Amino acid sequence: MYRVPRVASTELQAEDIRWDLTDLCSDAEEARTQWTALVERAQELASRYRGRIASLDAGELRALLDEADDLEQVLSRLQVYSYLRLSMAAADVEANDLTTFSRDRGAEIENALVFLGLEWIALDDETAEGLLASPALLPYEHKLRVSRQEKPYVLSELEEQALNARRPTMSAWQALHDRHVATLEVPFDAGDGEEPHTISQLLSYLYRTDRAIRLEAVTALFEGLAPRADVLAACYDALVGDRLSIDRLRGYADPMQPTNMDNELDDATVEAMMSATEEAYPIARSWFEAKARLLGLPKLELADQYAPIGEARLFTWPEAVEIVDGSFARFSPRLAEIFRGCLEAGHVDVLPRPGKAGGAYCTSVSKTVLPYVLTNYTERLRDVSTLAHEFGHATHNVLALERQTWRSHRTGIPMAEVPSTFAQALADDYLLENETDPGTRAALAADRLENAFAAIYRQTVLARFERRAYALRADGRSLATERLNELWLDENAKYYGDALEVPAGYALGWSYIPHFIHVRFYTYAYSFAQLVSLLLYRRYREDPAAFTPKYLELLASGGSASPADLVAPFGLDLRSTETWREAFAELDAFREEADTLATQAKQ
Ligand SMILES: [Zn+2]
Repeated sequence: MYRVPRVASTELQAEDIRWDLTDLCSDAEEARTQWTALVERAQELASRYRGRIASLDAGELRALLDEADDLEQVLSRLQVYSYLRLSMAAADVEANDLTTFSRDRGAEIENALVFLGLEWIALDDETAEGLLASPALLPYEHKLRVSRQEKPYVLSELEEQALNARRPTMSAWQALHDRHVATLEVPFDAGDGEEPHTISQLLSYLYRTDRAIRLEAVTALFEGLAPRADVLAACYDALVGDRLSIDRLRGYADPMQPTNMDNELDDATVEAMMSATEEAYPIARSWFEAKARLLGLPKLELADQYAPIGEARLFTWPEAVEIVDGSFARFSPRLAEIFRGCLEAGHVDVLPRPGKAGGAYCTSVSKTVLPYVLTNYTERLRDVSTLAHEFGHATHNVLALERQTWRSHRTGIPMAEVPSTFAQALADDYLLENETDPGTRAALAADRLENAFAAIYRQTVLARFERRAYALRADGRSLATERLNELWLDENAKYYGDALEVPAGYALGWSYIPHFIHVRFYTYAYSFAQLVSLLLYRRYREDPAAFTPKYLELLASGGSASPADLVAPFGLDLRSTETWREAFAELDAFREEADTLATQAKQ
């Protein structure tokens, strides 16, 4: 239990701070009772409305949507409860049982309510437009319109059923890929004798100061992947081939189209962003050259790409809280209030412990319950940034839910990552201004730059690689290891140029990336979020007083408008290459600052 007044919140030790789940549900028993009641409620709602959407007037449709919105928030609360229970204790039997129970009940509810979307899409355009013209439907208008865009690509009910029936077979390819990646263990000696290492353990050595370990980890990683490459390529080939056949049946013109539609970004926007990114590859190359100089190397190798620059000090939990609180408050007291509100309500779980989920996340619950945040705080500089990131999500959730319906509060992935990236920028700037230790300042500036590179440049390389793989497969050529290797090296060479040496083994760099297997063209969402956040931050620095209210408005708008409309008030035209070029001017300023601070720290 953790409920204390505001001032004391920063004085608490991190180990005291765990989730209090009572805002979600009292216990597993109670959750089961509520799940059962909710299934009944969904079925009852369906029995009243199924088959009737075409005959509803705008007021009646609004009543149905309100009722469904309410029901979906109870659903969300119960789902979050069982998810968080599992996040706290992966091996706990009660939590696992509840997860299974929740998944089954959740599927029943989803099935009961599926008619709503289907019958809405099935309406003819004239009827739908007539309904949408009514002010009664305004809170739902945008989402209703977006869902109808799928209409031309939906097949007959029998065809859809047949496609659904083969879904488990296609997921088997994904599962095979996941298993081959997750079970890979490479013998590696990091100084304490040879031990089996997973891919992510090997990758973590790339952040070490010891160059020999970095170089050996890269060699070991790709040697380890080599015997599995053919199977990994076969999985990818099967999935790409399948997606292309279904695209043909549905009538999609381009393999990127379904992802772009989900993201509410048009093809011209994505292309303008990616071309501007490629044009700006030289910014990265000039940093790689500077980094080689800073590390005292003739040339940077792949293994040096994320080598630490400067030595950052550690940050206690109260310091991290002060940094996020202070940087948010300086921007807008409202953001800091939400941050503290979540802390005080016991909605943050701070420290790593056995059985607790790794990484960090923020999950929104409903209009009446504050979001929950998970971190694994270990006092590193990066953890402070992560805390700000997750509370960028949390503040977005809270403000959007104050204004929007549940259904309209969520944006697509690219837009959802904008406020989190922006919040990180607020915290980074605050830290740079207040930190006196030269090593920490250098590390922060370099981290900020390299994180932006990883999001913007690397993810664009990945998306370009995917595009070419789909084009080859559509052209009747199979995606065998050798061919994927060639494509991968080719796209990477465009980025790294002569500024960074890649080892021969890197040809297999494509093989373990989960996004290729699970959600095609997912990766450009990271580029989008970073770039839009850079653009917004530039506007903020130019005129904070004019920017802040507009930005709070953007947060409160949630997913009630398209990304293009959401950023239009800031004078950003996402279809224009010029807009994206401006973001790179900002990135180049980061590069210069990192170079300056790192050079100072060395002296
Ligand atoms: Zn995020």
